[in-house]
Order: sequence, then structure tokens, then C-alpha cells
Amino acid sequence: MKAYKFVAFTGVLVPAIAAAQGAQQQEKRLNIIHIMSDDHSYQTISAYDHPISRIARTPNIDRIADEGLRFDRAYVENSLSTPSRACLMTGLYSHQNGQRNLGPGIDSTLTFLPEILRGAGYETAMIGKWHMQCEPKGFDFFYVLNGQGAYYNTAFKSHNSHGQYIQETGYVTNQITQHTLEFLEQRDTTKPFCLFVHHKAPHRNWMPDLDHLGLYEDEVFPLPETLYDDYSTRGSAIRLQKIDIRDHMDLDRDLKVRDTAKVKNYFKMNRSQLRKWDEFYAPRNEKFRSMGLEGDELYEWKYQNYIKEYVRCIKSVDESVGEILDYLEANGLMDNTVIVYTSDQGFYMGEHGLYDKRFMYEEAFRTPLILRYPEGVRRGISTDVMVQNLDFAPTYLDIAGIEKPDYMEGCSFLPVVLKNGKEPSGWRDYLYYHYYEYTPLLRISKMDGVFDKRFKLIHFYGEDGTYDEFYDLKKDPTETHNAIDSPRYSRDIKRLKARLSRFREDLKVDEF
Ligand code: CA
Repeated sequence: MKAYKFVAFTGVLVPAIAAAQGAQQQEKRLNIIHIMSDDHSYQTISAYDHPISRIARTPNIDRIADEGLRFDRAYVENSLSTPSRACLMTGLYSHQNGQRNLGPGIDSTLTFLPEILRGAGYETAMIGKWHMQCEPKGFDFFYVLNGQGAYYNTAFKSHNSHGQYIQETGYVTNQITQHTLEFLEQRDTTKPFCLFVHHKAPHRNWMPDLDHLGLYEDEVFPLPETLYDDYSTRGSAIRLQKIDIRDHMDLDRDLKVRDTAKVKNYFKMNRSQLRKWDEFYAPRNEKFRSMGLEGDELYEWKYQNYIKEYVRCIKSVDESVGEILDYLEANGLMDNTVIVYTSDQGFYMGEHGLYDKRFMYEEAFRTPLILRYPEGVRRGISTDVMVQNLDFAPTYLDIAGIEKPDYMEGCSFLPVVLKNGKEPSGWRDYLYYHYYEYTPLLRISKMDGVFDKRFKLIHFYGEDGTYDEFYDLKKDPTETHNAIDSPRYSRDIKRLKARLSRFREDLKVDEF
């Protein structure tokens, strides 16, 4: 009461005192940087030590892992761009936030994560791919792409462009880095910040920066064990899909075999960019045509060139991470900033003969996740605790000292970080997955499913048939032996089916 009287009496000083106290409190609050690329597979991050990334290394992303925690069991709830972004912003499953597919869907009346953080005193920024049809909201600073944006000379809508997309010359990954550094440079240093850096790369059609065109050209990337998967034992979905390298990867568009002079306004590139582009692709294409490849030889050429294009795009993403880390180091921000590197979902690098994502098979269901916490935790370790993209919103709120709203479905994984990767008591035993986007173009069946870290039950439904698949990832890590009819797994199948039913009931899932 005494203090109250004092404050009331010296009314003029109140804002100053409050501001000073607020600033002290905020000083202790950690900054958050969420770097998320689009379709970046864990197989192409060298911290995950995969045969591809042993050749195409990512030293800057590895810096985060070397000083942080690598999650080996990070998953998404719907392996697709827009739903993944909606999940990040709302902490809700696709059917709860409305964003089940690409295109419209998001319930923009929901409170987004940055709105909560901003309300609690954080400065918030979003740079890069937004990919939802509602306006970016809750951000003090933003530069967002129009839908997918373009690899070259893309346009950005920003916090001060009055709703207009303004075209800028350059390569998209570098442009996103530039706007990120602009935010860091001009931010309000009296506030903690939460910064989302969302790269377009390495999304299809995998166009590298001009500086990286010939990179890895002479390398031969190892073939995945399941490149020649014949899909025996599996149901109709994987047979009917149109995302396989052999038949559905386009030589012209995806692998740049087409003569650029024959295409009007070739991917928005300008003349000087095209000149440099052709210096690399024209002789490569001439050589390709002269070889007259067919059958498996053509298939493997496609695989090799797919991987090369993809990891060339990753090279720029990795350099971007390096520039951001260098800035943080040079400006004394490493000790009070949580740095996260992740992707909106995983991606097939030829496993099962596929590119793309969407299926619940491991490489698309999983996503890379690496987190560097400033101090007080062990460095350079990994964890197999199961986390999901539903957990980002609760985790970032937890880091900011804000209680998670009841409606959010995920759990903060900050305790996993603070316990050096150990599983907190009462942690989840199962994950729920649901993919909705059946289109004639890609023809990937709708599916939901449940996973307990060893066993996976996938329920396919819709136009191409209703049936289940079951995998034991311990015995069958490449998921080529569907064991749904195997009597030896009958107890586990029954258990996972019961858990799947419970998820559907608890979450009020309305189709399956
Ligand atoms: Ca994506």
C-alpha cells in the first residue's frame, strides 16, 4: 500500500520506473530465431550424417548442431507447406485451424503466435515464405513472398509497402537473408525479438544461385537403398502416386534440360542472369542429349541431377544461416538468443523412388530440427524424444515465459532442451498424423495414422481405396515390408488401431 501511495503521488515518474523495470525484465528474456526452409530433408544436413550430406556438407547449419541439440525424432502433423505454417502460427492440428490443404483454409480469427509474443513485449518479424491466404499478422516487421515467390527477382510485400508486392533483383535466398539482417540492424534493442526466417529454397523446381551452378557437378551421389522399390506388400497409394523421379520428374522444368531461349521470360530471370545460367546448362544439356539415355540409365541421370540441383539450393540456405550466425556473434547476441533450424516438413531424396513429401513414410513425416540454447545446457548432443511441429508455438511461448493457451495441442519441448535431451516424465508416447490433399495432379491418397517411435500404422482412405499399412521401423527401417497382415504383430496392430481411434475421438477428427 505504501508503495502504491508513493507511486500515485509521484505520478510523473511512474512511466519511467515502469519502463526501467520492464526493460530489466525484458533483458532477461531470450530472443528467438526460427529459421525454416521449405522441403529441406534431414538427409541433406551434414549434422544428420547421411550419405548425401557427407558429400554436400552444411557447415553453418552444423554450427547450430555443434553448439546445440539435434532432434532425431521431430515430425510434422501434416506433411505439406501451408498446413505446416498454419500449425506453427496456431499450435493446432490442420482440421482445427482450417488449413488442411494448400490454398484457402486458415481461420484467420485465431490468435497467431507472434500476436501473443508481441502482446507480451516482443518485437516480431517474418521474412520470406508466408504461404497462407490471410495477411501476415502480429508482426512489427515483415517481408513476405507472394505465394511460392520466385527463385530469381522475386517480389516482396512488406510492413511498409502498403499492400503492394515490389519486385527486387537477386536470388531469393540472398534476398531473404538481406531483409533478415535489415530487421536485426534496425530492431528496437530495448525489446526481446522473435524472428521467423522462412526460406523458399529448396522447394521444387530447385533453381540454384548463379554462384553455385556447377557445384558438385563431378560428384556421384550414392543411390538410396529403395530407389528401385517395387512397392510389393504396399497398398494402392504408393503405386498410384505421381511424385516418382522415374516418371513424374520433368526434365525441362525440374532438371533444366530445356533451351532457355525457347521459353518466354524464363523463370523471371533477366538477360545477364540467363547468360550465366546458360554458360553452365547449355553444354551440360548438349552432353545429356548426345548420350541418348533410356531406362534405368536415364532414371539414374535424373536422380543424380535432382540431388545436385537440390543441394546447390541448400548451399545458399547454409550460407544464409552462416551470415545470420555471424551477425549474432558480431553483435553479442549469441548469449541471449535461441536459434532454431528446421523445415516445414521432410522430403524424399529418391527413397521409394520418390521426390516430394505428403506420405507418412519416414522421410517426409520427419523434419530436421536443431536448436541452440544460449547457456546452461550441454553442447553438440542429440535426442530421440518425439516432438512435432505442433510444439513450436508452446515452446516459444515457454521460452518467453508465457503460459500456453489451453487450446494449443502441442507441448513445450523446452524441458527437453534444459534436460540435455532427456525425456521429461509424462511425455507423449504417440504422434498423430493426417494428410488431406488428394489431387488428380499428384494423386496421393488421404491418410491418417499413428506412430509410437517403433511401430507405424497408416490408414489410407478416399477415392483410391480404404486400407491400412503397418511397419516395424526397428526391423524394417526403410518401410518396405507392410506387416498389416502379419500375425506376429497382431497385438501391436490392435494397440495402434485403438490409439488411432482415441486420437480421432479426442481431437474430433471429422474424416478418415
Ligand atoms: Ca514444404
